[in-house]
Amino acid sequence: MVASSNALTGPKGVSAAQAALQQMLANGVTPSSSHYEVWLEYELKSNPALSAAIDARKSSGSALDDDFTSQMHEQHFGNASASAQLVVTGERLARDLNQVVSFLRQAEEKSGDYGRTLESAATDLNRGLDTEQIRQIVSSLAAATLDMANHNQHLNQQLSKSSREIETLRSSLESVRVESLTDALTGLSNRRMFDETLRMRIEEARAQKTPLCLMLCDIDHFKRFNDTWGHHTGDQILRFLASAMQAHARPDFLVARYGGEEFAMIMPRVSVQEAAKLADAMRDAIQAKRLRRRSTNEDLGQVTVSLGVAQLTPSDTPQGLIERSDACLYSSKRGGRNRVTTDAAPVLYVA
Ligand code: GH3
Ligand code: MG
Ligand code: MG
Repeated sequence: MVASSNALTGPKGVSAAQAALQQMLANGVTPSSSHYEVWLEYELKSNPALSAAIDARKSSGSALDDDFTSQMHEQHFGNASASAQLVVTGERLARDLNQVVSFLRQAEEKSGDYGRTLESAATDLNRGLDTEQIRQIVSSLAAATLDMANHNQHLNQQLSKSSREIETLRSSLESVRVESLTDALTGLSNRRMFDETLRMRIEEARAQKTPLCLMLCDIDHFKRFNDTWGHHTGDQILRFLASAMQAHARPDFLVARYGGEEFAMIMPRVSVQEAAKLADAMRDAIQAKRLRRRSTNEDLGQVTVSLGVAQLTPSDTPQGLIERSDACLYSSKRGGRNRVTTDAAPVLYVA
């Protein structure tokens, strides 16, 4: 999966490997194989998307730690097994379909032969034949009919076997597809599904001339929470957040895990005022919940979130809409957290 072994031969490969280890040491990253994979790829400069993501993180001054490295691995290497499975399943499906086509072709030939036997019998019978000749024609028709019936039975068995196989493959393809679009921790849509849906919803909003809003949601002081209670309990909070967001979403909204502790909601056919109201109700419900640690039942206190909501403008690209929502989210953080900011002044909800 990692850069081809060609890129690793010679002194360049050795120095990339050393540099990758140094990066991990300098940033306190645990030297697991998946972490190494990320940093080696970065040093080899063979994955532009990964390089851009790491460089952006570096210039933001945020930590290049285990969490970040794992996140990079999930985003840039994560779906490898799902895609490999997809290729294998696709190949099997193609082979099965070819088999069905060949069965059907055989059936066509066979029924053509049978038709010709019937036709020639009918012609013969029209010619006025004696009893013996009629007896012969009838017995050859009986043989052809039996042969056809046997062949059909065999064909039916083959076809139903193939259709069962195709059904199994179809459902495994479907589960691979769902898996490749789902975030494993929360069960929400992942970033890839979010990107695809946002693009589609923007086109739809333009075509139907309906509003579209994007909400971004980030947990407040989550690092502190993780430091106090541990990563595992942090994960429990991420799942709580996911279900709170789902509970507030309408059926045609898409809720996604946008990044580590950031979530997004794509809200079609909703004005920014309605979206802000919904975001604020959700914010209020989240802060009102008293959370308990599942393993020990300890009181975890409250968790709050900051939100940014922006409405699509005629000239927005998907990236433009994301950036404006993110700027609103940033205003909520700067303004004191646990609040909603929209880009439609003067709607501003403050806790
Ligand atoms: P702010 O209020 O400014 O958002 O502060 P913050 O601490 O939430 O923000 P920061 O971006 O500094 O920290 C985000 C933290 O989210 C860091 C990382 O430990 C945590 N995180 C990211 N992904 C996961 C995850 O999958 N599980 C857990 N438990 N924590 C995660
Ligand atoms: Mg964050
Ligand atoms: Mg945060």
